[in-house]
Amino acid sequence: MEQTLSIIKPDAVKKGVIGQIVSRFESNGLRVAAMKKLQLSDADAGEFYAVHKERPFFGELVEFMTSGPVVVMVLEGEDAVAKNRELMGATNPKEAEAGTIRADFAESIDANAVHGSDSLENAQIEINFFFAQREIV
Ligand code: GDP
Repeated sequence: MEQTLSIIKPDAVKKGVIGQIVSRFESNGLRVAAMKKLQLSDADAGEFYAVHKERPFFGELVEFMTSGPVVVMVLEGEDAVAKNRELMGATNPKEAEAGTIRADFAESIDANAVHGSDSLENAQIEINFFFAQREIV
């Protein structure tokens, strides 16, 4: 059993597809162990994406992630990290496989609907960033 962090990004929240995205997870063996909606501050987004600080798109990324509320979730299941990444599709929705969340709901490489942890180690760091242990059930 693994846990991973998923974020429904501001573009998808604005579009009103929270339910459709959660449904993709639930119908593919990923259980929602924790969930909340929140507005990230510049400091939150900057800290969460600190690994990308030196990348040319860092400013745009922070601006986008703070442009509206997000929904953060802990997903739990067998191979949860890899399964979530598979359901999400490629970072650039134009390259995402048909039937993936990004192919179906994302507009562009920055407004790409969802975030998912890329390793088990990062999943634990990202989960701890958003959730207290008592919120994960
Ligand atoms: P992910 O793990 O598939 O989300 O992709 P990365 O970890 O490589 O990048 C993190 C996030 O930064 C992506 O989901 C995008 O929202 C954003 N991003 C990545 N590449 C670009 C880019 O070239 N331009 C912009 N504006 N945003 C990008």
